[in-house]
Amino acid sequence: MKSEAKVVVIGGGVVGVSALYHLAKKGWGDDVVLLEKAELTSGSTWHAAGLLPLFNMSYSVGQIHKYSLQLYSELEAETGQAVGLKQVGNLRLAMTQDRMDEYYQYAATARTIGIDVQFLTPAEIKKMWPLCDIGGLVGGILHPDDGYIQPADLTQALAKGARARGATIYRNTPVLAIEQSTSGNWLIKTANGDISCEHVISASGNYARQTGKMVGLDIPVIPVEHQFIVTEPHPELVRRRNNGEPELAVLREADGSWYLREENGGFILGPYEKGAPCCYVNGPDPQAEYELFQEDIDRLVPHIEAAIARVPAFGEVGMKQVYNGAIAYTPDGNPIVGPAWGIDNFWLNEGHSFGITAAGGAGWQLAEWIVEGEPTIDMLGVEPRRFGDYANKDYLVEKNEEAYAHVFEIHYPDEERPAARPLRTAPCYQRLKDMGAVFGQKFGWERANWFATDGMKQEDDWSFRRSKWFDAIAKECANVTANVGLLDMTAFAKCRVSGAGAEAFLEYFVANRLPKHIGGLGLCHALNTRGGVHSEFTIRRESKDSFYLVSAGALQRLDHDYLHKHMPKDGTVEFTQLTDSYGVLVIAGPKSRTLMQRVSQTDFSNESFRWLTTQDIVIGDAPVIAMRVNYVGELGWELHHPIQYQNHIFDALFAAGQDLGLKPFGIRAMDSMRLEKSYRMVGTELSIEYSAYESAMDRFIQPDKGDFLGRDALLESKQAGLNNLLVTMEVAGVEDADALGNNALSVNGVVVGRATGGNFGFRVNKSLAMGMVKPEFSEPGTVLEIDILGKSYAATVVPDSPFDTSNERLRDVNGANDT
Ligand SMILES: Cc1cc2nc3c(=O)[nH]c(=O)nc-3n(C[C@H](O)[C@H](O)[C@H](O)COP(=O)(O)OP(=O)(O)OC[C@H]3O[C@@H](n4cnc5c(N)ncnc54)[C@H](O)[C@@H]3O)c2cc1C
Repeated sequence: MKSEAKVVVIGGGVVGVSALYHLAKKGWGDDVVLLEKAELTSGSTWHAAGLLPLFNMSYSVGQIHKYSLQLYSELEAETGQAVGLKQVGNLRLAMTQDRMDEYYQYAATARTIGIDVQFLTPAEIKKMWPLCDIGGLVGGILHPDDGYIQPADLTQALAKGARARGATIYRNTPVLAIEQSTSGNWLIKTANGDISCEHVISASGNYARQTGKMVGLDIPVIPVEHQFIVTEPHPELVRRRNNGEPELAVLREADGSWYLREENGGFILGPYEKGAPCCYVNGPDPQAEYELFQEDIDRLVPHIEAAIARVPAFGEVGMKQVYNGAIAYTPDGNPIVGPAWGIDNFWLNEGHSFGITAAGGAGWQLAEWIVEGEPTIDMLGVEPRRFGDYANKDYLVEKNEEAYAHVFEIHYPDEERPAARPLRTAPCYQRLKDMGAVFGQKFGWERANWFATDGMKQEDDWSFRRSKWFDAIAKECANVTANVGLLDMTAFAKCRVSGAGAEAFLEYFVANRLPKHIGGLGLCHALNTRGGVHSEFTIRRESKDSFYLVSAGALQRLDHDYLHKHMPKDGTVEFTQLTDSYGVLVIAGPKSRTLMQRVSQTDFSNESFRWLTTQDIVIGDAPVIAMRVNYVGELGWELHHPIQYQNHIFDALFAAGQDLGLKPFGIRAMDSMRLEKSYRMVGTELSIEYSAYESAMDRFIQPDKGDFLGRDALLESKQAGLNNLLVTMEVAGVEDADALGNNALSVNGVVVGRATGGNFGFRVNKSLAMGMVKPEFSEPGTVLEIDILGKSYAATVVPDSPFDTSNERLRDVNGANDT
């Protein structure tokens, strides 16, 4: 066995072999090795049904699936190994208007990434699928390129392609331990000898947690039992085959939670059942190979009945075999593909529940990331660091079973799932709940999305259209505009970066200049090496050598890991985690100065407390860092405080704010108001897929300050000419639905961009959207077409910040709100 390699891949399922293939394709073939404890495909891969569904609401996963299908269609010609690809199409049925809305929202995303989706009427469905009863159907969508493949043959073809480029595969070679030397190299200990390498890719399927343990990682993957039924042949399918008629498309009835496809003249029925249990909670047996579980027919019955109602022919054939195998899951059902946290050069390609479909694209992006240093598409949807420490084993069992049962649920944009909640709560949680808060969950934290008042039911109402919370957030926005509102943002990620080397490190890490004066505040972005925006931090200078950093709560592990990986390792910079020890309450609105003046001795006048400055203050008897900044475009302060004082501060504010009209507001009102100000958000308007100049962040980028991370690539990309530009748009004519993001933007029917976000702006009384368009369509006044739930509307590009364009309200330069 080789004793050295550049990359070692652990796991010879389709996912690991695809990563190996793509590394070899990038030219590293002679230097990459795959270790498989038994035979290739002996994990989950061998018993997969081989379906290749393109449908996915995530922008990242959509692109990954699209790439896979393209690759798989070329593999046989490249390697000579048949893969059994059948692009018979995939027909998804809709029994409700909400389901159709989901398809319209999805189809807009698909259009922006170049996936072909067609809408069908019930009559057209009948024509395509004569065995289907179309009773109760509203319509459906067809992916003509979709289909299925033979998973084991696909894996062998990828292995052949990898070997042909010099890659080495060792079968029957279990990895037993992994160590990292002081030089950073990894030592992989196997039953057949040791191998040292620069990079490790963990692609160990159902063993993800065991592999993670070898390097101290708690990987958020636990499999769930998944079944499918293979039937005896049906005479009609056999007749169609014998007549040379085309094979029927894969049929999916999402509302009945099953799929059906042809298999050797019979059917395969695959349900996603409620109550399917997690398996291998403490890991599979080390010797487990080709393992199946006892089938559970009771769990299958409701889906069999639903399938028979829709396709009576299915009820006319006997069951030949039931497969019940382990399918890896994560709490949100998406895989984890990318770097591990806390350690260098350890990569995760785990948690794949659609691994046959995703293997190609995941391997492609991982190889880009390892060889070139960055992925080429926004991978936030599959980012390993999107979960945190809270995702422990018990949490995973609850959430992964929920994610499995939700595969065919309608993916509402405002959906909040109930399992494992409440988990992380701010001290003021109960107070907000008593005020009518309807909560959502982010990174384990409960956050108030909106407030049910005036007798409204304290219950969410999800939809692709404006739902009952639309009126509630209208009231919240009105109160922030006229009076003063309070928003709990305790979920923010917070940390301190300090030490003799802190300033020099941060100056290199972010593109903006750091605040010069003690107490100063800056909005600073950490780019990736290609000049895309990786992270956004609000930075407060606490002293010459100490900085307090705040970033998005959902990105805590990602942002803090990014900081860690770039920090000098010579001890001159220290990182202190503050997320759980600091709370944040935001006060915003024209009466916020009066309110602050009532609860604190500090002078909050414009002269004494300027925009973008901070001060240590006391509210009641509690210490607070007050920052004059906010995300809603009104006069206001963020109040950061040691978390144990939160309710003392909360009560002081509400006691003093009664007659000022102080009321709480939620995340959905905040989102509406931030769009009115064209404030960007990481993950939508800011992404590694677009350069910081494309996101029009010019005023936060200081190329003259000296070198910073991503600077050269950023300037080069500007010189070469930008491919996109971020714009704000007013959407005309909408009545009950606003843009949700990922909507196609077109001119004369040709896609020229995509919306990144949208909402109704209550202060401007207009439907708004932000989006990336080709620069020639970015001039204010340009009229684009925007697709909202299948209808085209005029979207006119407007200058940034449609509300209070000159920022008078938040700067309050004339002190109009002074007490
Ligand atoms: C019943 C069923 C039907 C499915 N149908 C579909 C479908 O239609 N379409 C689809 O896209 N997906 C489907 N899936 C999911 C699909 O099977 C998986 O997503 C995919 O196989 C995952 O591949 P993998 O390479 O990540 O994992 P695996 O195939 O499990 O491979 C992991 C490999 O790692 C090896 N390994 C683990 N630990 C070590 C170690 N310490 N040392 C060396 N080797 C190690 C294992 O032996 C194993 O071979 C289905 C799953 C099930 C259960």
